[in-house]
Amino acid sequence: MKQWQCTICGYIHTGEEPPEKCPVCGADKSLFIEVTPQKNAAPPKSSSKPFQGASLYHRITDLMIQHHIHPISAHVPNGVAPAAFLFVFLSVIFRFESLSTAAFYNLVFVLVCLPVVMLAGFNEWHKKYRSSKTPLFVTKIIAAFVVATAALILVVWYAIDPGITTTPSAARIVFLLLHLVLLAAAGIAGFIGGKLVFKD
Ligand SMILES: [Zn+2]
Repeated sequence: MKQWQCTICGYIHTGEEPPEKCPVCGADKSLFIEVTPQKNAAPPKSSSKPFQGASLYHRITDLMIQHHIHPISAHVPNGVAPAAFLFVFLSVIFRFESLSTAAFYNLVFVLVCLPVVMLAGFNEWHKKYRSSKTPLFVTKIIAAFVVATAALILVVWYAIDPGITTTPSAARIVFLLLHLVLLAAAGIAGFIGGKLVFKD
């Protein structure tokens, strides 16, 4: 049986032909190369090996990819965002205003982390996945921008109007829904990231 490797994400397919589309990243059939192991031959080199850049920029981005800076840094805001969501809803339910302030500081922290997460993610997408624009990567990038935009709006909004969570209003509903959108987008970006890392 032959083996085929997706040159975008490294997924290995076993069969006479490569699949029509990569089940992990959605890359086209034409982007698969045959990597059937030959007897007494060295295993095929992984396509995901970062290339040897000469410039400082290439060396830094290669090191960031090798040391998994994107998935590691992404766990920080992805862990804090659900806490912000929980705090803001508890604050509304129990009319406990300091929880809204806690949620606000959590979101400030998310906002501070995001440039590192997004820059590392962009580098990884550009080098490791060669800027592949399959629906999977496009969705992940859109989700990242939704997280950043929602976090920015919520932080600025609360800074201007810290009383937003205390009185029932249409604006408060939008404020709460925006927390939900942020959490959902962070979840989508994280889910796709996990799919790319674990390929299942
Ligand atoms: Zn793939």
